[in-house]
Amino acid sequence: MASFSTFKCISISGKSCGNNKVSFCGHNMCSMQLQHCVNHSQRPSRVSFAISGIKAQVATTQQANVETTESVEAPVVIVTGASRGIGKAIAIAFGKAGCKVLVNYVKSSKEAEEVCKEIEGVGGQALAFRGDVSNETDVASMIKTAVDAWGTVDVLVNNAGIIRDTLLMKMKTSQWKEVIDLNLTGVFLCTQAAAKIMMKQRKGRIINIASIVGLVGNVGQGNYSAAKAGVIGFTKSAAREYSARGINVNAIAPGFIISELTVNLSEDIKKAYIEKIPLGRYGQPEEVAGLVEFLALNSAAGYMTGQVLTIDGGMVM
Ligand code: NAP
Repeated sequence: MASFSTFKCISISGKSCGNNKVSFCGHNMCSMQLQHCVNHSQRPSRVSFAISGIKAQVATTQQANVETTESVEAPVVIVTGASRGIGKAIAIAFGKAGCKVLVNYVKSSKEAEEVCKEIEGVGGQALAFRGDVSNETDVASMIKTAVDAWGTVDVLVNNAGIIRDTLLMKMKTSQWKEVIDLNLTGVFLCTQAAAKIMMKQRKGRIINIASIVGLVGNVGQGNYSAAKAGVIGFTKSAAREYSARGINVNAIAPGFIISELTVNLSEDIKKAYIEKIPLGRYGQPEEVAGLVEFLALNSAAGYMTGQVLTIDGGMVM
């Protein structure tokens, strides 16, 4: 595993600017702040290192029979909405696998920096990137940032998501649009931008975080269930379109996972959910992260595309 000594921050040009964090307004809207937190003594570059097992390599179908120990480059991974919750667990899992991880967030800069530090503490490299995934300009800058820093994008995890729950009879158009724009259009924008890079190298893995609500619906979540059902349909279409380019696209549909998204639900609702979960408990973000890691890095997942894997304690079966 690669190990690095100094904790340095760099500007978007990749030039070292001391050990201080750098704020960067990447376009005239000035809506983004870039904080590269690269635990490296030089400009970040693709690093070759020896690993054992099948972790930390984005294997295509052709690569399925690789030797168990060989020199491979650390995969470059983008995780949207990685400052907390499921996205944070996913980003750290990739860090443990030795990956270079772009930690996207929109508000929680301090938390995103902490995630970067944690990734570097477990053997990965990280940079935090502030950007709204429903904004096309931000998405283009996010992909460019990963490519400028590390040369490519191997894995994209479309995780960022919000809820604006209310009954349909009360739902405002703004609540509908906000959820569709981020949870569905954001997945489209990030996928399209990342796939452009992946197509050139003829390999890549895209994992979309949907929800069981996209499969079965839910009272008070008309906007959210429509977006998540859209993500599932989009995943299948993208899998068909990109299969000839060596890009696998799959979706994960979590059930009730402990995070800030769910922690504030009323006790009545939480109790009602537990009663419907055959395994009798909520899921942990790390459990979702393990499944993402499998789909992203394991050579066995090289023969999977267009699938929706539920991880829900048996709620939907
Ligand atoms: P969470 O704890 O609320 O975290 C949401 C993340 O998304 C945060 O990192 C947040 O960044 C980021 N985000 C919000 N708006 C964004 C934007 N416009 N652009 C970029 N990032 C943005 O949510 P979670 O529970 O971990 O959920 C993660 C994903 O799993 C979502 O897609 C959700 O729908 C799905 N899911 C969750 C559950 C569950 O039970 N928790 C179940 C099924 C599916 P900031 O911190 O900067 O705001």
